[in-house]
This record gives sequence, structure tokens and C-alpha cells, in this order.
Amino acid sequence: MPELIPILSKNEIDQRVTAIAAKISADYAQSELVVIGVLKGAFIFLSDLIRKLSIPVEVEFVRVSSYGTESATTEKIRLTYELETEIKNKDVLIIEDIIDTGLTISFLVDYLFAFNPKSVQICTLIDKQERKKKRIDIRYACHVVKEGFLVGYGLDFAEKYRYLPDIYHLKL
Ligand code: 5GP
Ligand code: MG
Repeated sequence: MPELIPILSKNEIDQRVTAIAAKISADYAQSELVVIGVLKGAFIFLSDLIRKLSIPVEVEFVRVSSYGTESATTEKIRLTYELETEIKNKDVLIIEDIIDTGLTISFLVDYLFAFNPKSVQICTLIDKQERKKKRIDIRYACHVVKEGFLVGYGLDFAEKYRYLPDIYHLKL
């Protein structure tokens, strides 16, 4: 049986999301901000986060899938749900569930920059540090872990566990 080891309780998540929302609200007080959630993993984080902001935002989503081999450098990332709104000259904040190697987020940053936004910054629920393949400037991170596979609060393993209110380390 897979084992679920608690990492962050829903109360701890709530406190961190509240703190990050306050920072974002202050930093973008004078902006036209578009938050872009990365489906599916970020949907719960995004929905909690935007309700704690004290500034107006537009909400968009993209979806990415990665294909290919285990070796992440040869991995092919592609969008399966594209941006549908104009972000030209707007401030963009990508809302991601986990940044692991950093390949997905750097692909997304490049993709979004092609639409000529005013700025693109990154907000992630989890920054996983051990496997970084790219240097990524993560402006907002709720929680930093060294390693391990996490589930719950939107994060899945084979589409399971997304609905759990807390975050766990999954040991298979
Ligand atoms: P990357 O390695 O490109 O930074 O991360 C790619 C994607 O893999 C993330 O957006 C996330 O959806 C998924 N991922 C990475 N680590 C984990 C993890 O520990 N748990 C879950 N559920 N997904 C992960
Ligand atoms: Mg993801």
C-alpha cells in the first residue's frame, strides 16, 4: 500500500497562501494583473489564492503535457490548452503547483513572453529544489522542499489524491 506522510496541513497551507496573497496584492497594487494557472495541479491553489487578494485580477489557464523519456533534457513539453486572452502590456503571474526540474515553467515563461506582456513572474505552491536543471527566478513560493513526490491540495499521482485538503509525501 502507498504511504501518505503529512507535509503541510490545510491550516499551514492557508497561512502561507494568505501571506503570499498579501505580498502579491502589495506588489501589483498599481498593475493590470493576469494570473495564469497551470492545469490541472494548480487549480485549488489558484482558487484559494485569488480569493485572498485585495486587488482585481483576470484569471486564465493553460495546460501543458510532457512527453518523452525519463531524461528531462530531451523531454518534449507542449501546450494542450492554450492562452485565450490578450496579455500584451499586462503583468502576468504564472500560478504553478510544483517546480521540480524547472523545465515546464521555463517553457511557459518563453511561451508567454512571445505575447509581449509587460512582465512575467512565477508563483508556485511548492519549490522542489533537488532536481533543478535550470536556474529559475521564483518570485513567490509557499513552501520549499528538497525532494520527494507530493500529493494532495490539487496535486495528483495518476489522477488520485487531488481532492485531499492537506499535502502529503507519497511513498510507493
Ligand atoms: P518540472 O520538472 O518541469 O519543473 O515539473 C513538471 C511538473 O511535474 C510540475 O508542474 C508538476 O505538475 C509535476 N510534478 C513535479 N513534482 C511533482 C510532485 O512531487 N508531485 C506531483 N503531484 N507532481 C509533480
Ligand atoms: Mg504541473
